[in-house]
Amino acid sequence: MDRILKGLSRFQKNVYPKHRDLFHKLALGQRPEALFITCADSRIDPCMLTQTKPGELFICRVIGNIIPPYPDAIGGVSATIEYAVGVLGVPDVIVCGHTDCGVMKGVLRPDALKPLTSVTAWLNYAQPALQAVAELKQVHTDAEHLLALAECNVVEQLGNLRTHPAVAVALARDALKLHGWVYKFETGEVFGYDPQQGQFLEIGAPPSVSVANRQPLSPQLQVI
Ligand SMILES: [Zn+2]
Repeated sequence: MDRILKGLSRFQKNVYPKHRDLFHKLALGQRPEALFITCADSRIDPCMLTQTKPGELFICRVIGNIIPPYPDAIGGVSATIEYAVGVLGVPDVIVCGHTDCGVMKGVLRPDALKPLTSVTAWLNYAQPALQAVAELKQVHTDAEHLLALAECNVVEQLGNLRTHPAVAVALARDALKLHGWVYKFETGEVFGYDPQQGQFLEIGAPPSVSVANRQPLSPQLQVI
């Protein structure tokens, strides 16, 4: 906690004064460019990843970047989606999974999480993704399994997102686009879901990493 408080002091002393105009402007209101839904994992930093400033991303963080289908489990996630899409009118929603996700590991090995009743109930929303992985033929190793599950989970959650009324209305008006990403934080690569091809393709300007690490994440996925 000491480091966190020292960081706060540095922000107030050095960083805030440099961006005073921005924060004063933000005091008048916000108009974020996207709703970014991602895992609560501490290794994922949406603003660093997208190089966005305060006011530019409306962020929903929840373990496993899981979005319960409407009207199931109405709570923080559904309220955040409704507010971002219905009130703020964000034009884009990004659902971003990631590599080495502990939640996805828990989906693969649920016994270890059994004493955690809330987590176990939450992970039920990833079960359809587990089923989708079981139908993939080119997944052999544990690592491939984990990556494929992270991808299938993003696709599944995009489907759940469409069931939320505010999202359905905005999609029908052609005022909203949905995006599925998987962030490989070890290399800085990001793979975006292409519904036409049914697979994740590299997006952005790929960082300089060895060719050996620049593999597509997994074989073809079922299109939602
Ligand atoms: Zn995670």
